[in-house]
Amino acid sequence: MVSGSLMAARAPAKRRIPAAARTRHAVRRATHRLSGARWVASPNFDARPDPADVSLLVVHAISLPPGRFGGPWIDRLFSNALDPEAHPYFREIRQLRVSSHLCIFRNGAIRQYVAFDRRAWHAGESVFEGRSRCNDFSIGIELEGCDERPFEARQYRSLAAVTRALMRAYPLITPSRIVGHSDIAPGRKTDPGPHFDWLRFHAELEAAA
Ligand SMILES: [Zn+2]
Repeated sequence: MVSGSLMAARAPAKRRIPAAARTRHAVRRATHRLSGARWVASPNFDARPDPADVSLLVVHAISLPPGRFGGPWIDRLFSNALDPEAHPYFREIRQLRVSSHLCIFRNGAIRQYVAFDRRAWHAGESVFEGRSRCNDFSIGIELEGCDERPFEARQYRSLAAVTRALMRAYPLITPSRIVGHSDIAPGRKTDPGPHFDWLRFHAELEAAA
């Protein structure tokens, strides 16, 4: 073991390509869907007032039940198929009709629920730079996570790679127009929460360029 690691230390350094740069994603122009994401259709969307105005990215965090990861619950919430008997919390939120465009799970896997040219229902009452109704002009990305736990490295990598693809497809989205839900709905929302590392995310976004 020791000699192995010494040899490794002496070996010429291989250029390490950030995982984000190796992950290829692209938005398909015809469908406004992301390659490399599994499609699970949500009925919770409608038309954008101006389909050409896709100019903001909103990062969220979600866990169902709160603080727990895994299971089919996020897909089911966005499909209006959450079993209210499966957990007391699900009974509380049974009337919710919500969605996001994407969710990035703990293992970095990506799901898409709404095409990017449609309005997903993720931001609710919200304001960005004086403009309200952020759903009209934003793309919403949920990270499977909560206020109490750090996010996974694979989630940052996926998020950076996906964000790059979105910025290529929708050039009105720039690094300064990437916000957290708590930034556009302060006092009402805390996600993506204190553990979301914005500096790390922006560094990985640079590396993925
Ligand atoms: Zn949110």
